[in-house]
Amino acid sequence: MRAFLRFFRSALLLSGFALSMRLAPAAVTVVIDPGHGGADLGATDSYVYEKHINLDVARRLERSLTEAGFKAILTRSRDEFISLSERSVIANRQRKAIFVSIHFNSSYKTSAFGIETYYRSAGSERLAKFVQTELVRNCRLPDRGVKTANYAVLRRTKHTCILVEGGFVSNKTDRTAMCDPLYRQIVADSIARALVQYERS
Ligand SMILES: [Zn+2]
Repeated sequence: MRAFLRFFRSALLLSGFALSMRLAPAAVTVVIDPGHGGADLGATDSYVYEKHINLDVARRLERSLTEAGFKAILTRSRDEFISLSERSVIANRQRKAIFVSIHFNSSYKTSAFGIETYYRSAGSERLAKFVQTELVRNCRLPDRGVKTANYAVLRRTKHTCILVEGGFVSNKTDRTAMCDPLYRQIVADSIARALVQYERS
């Protein structure tokens, strides 16, 4: 697994991923929302807390997006509780932005694994598809597809918005992957790459 991830890291990063992806000067704002935080742990299993994984991926995404020429804003940058409505308020303060909520999944069925991306409004479907395609291609976890959901954070945010579930905390294979910083980097870079493609298309 490690050797495999290392290969992908070099393929994504060392080939000048960030530089080749650079956007035109007009910066696009991306509000990155690391799910849960503080007393809200999110999914947990075997001492792995979703809230920590979400924040780490969000920070990596912030760096990748900034390098690619985006303006990135985080709804939380440390381990603190923020309500769902506050997250949308932060996003809606921006006149124009893209909202990306970062989560990892959980199921009572520990065999459930893979990646899925959610959207709510029709205008967000295209972005969800770009993100899901890049994640599945680079992370090599099963494709659970692009789905619609009436999540509060998607309902209350006025911008193009998606919610990424980057693997299952409840599944041993996925959990092992997300505990590796290289995997978290690949998740972040895949989302960044998809955002560039979305902006260019
Ligand atoms: Zn979550």
